[in-house]
Amino acid sequence: MKIDPDLRLQIMEKVGIYSNRFSIPEPRLLLTTKDVLDAPKEMTEGRRTSAYKYYGVSYLQHNLVFVNVRKIPDEKILENTIVHELIHMRFQYLAHGKRFNKLVRQGLRGKTFPPYRKRNKISAI
Ligand SMILES: [Zn+2]
Repeated sequence: MKIDPDLRLQIMEKVGIYSNRFSIPEPRLLLTTKDVLDAPKEMTEGRRTSAYKYYGVSYLQHNLVFVNVRKIPDEKILENTIVHELIHMRFQYLAHGKRFNKLVRQGLRGKTFPPYRKRNKISAI
């Protein structure tokens, strides 16, 4: 898809809506490979020069998401990519797989998720 101010705004809106539903802070967005290369190296380490190959990349530790708008062919895949990356942000411990895909489908359908909370460790003396 071709990035223009309209599409940029649409993406920011979608990210805002889904971040809200998933109870995560809105990530900083990178929408072109140039944005990725311009970002501080330590933020994009590991997926910097290879980012162009993917529809999206989450830089979890930096609350940073790359949406590779140029590579994305249509709106459906765009929405999918946004939700996929934001599910990574909400469920950081979860790897790709059946459960991950299920959460993406639920997210696309409008499901909300409560904030992530680390389980309390039980301490006993
Ligand atoms: Zn992924």
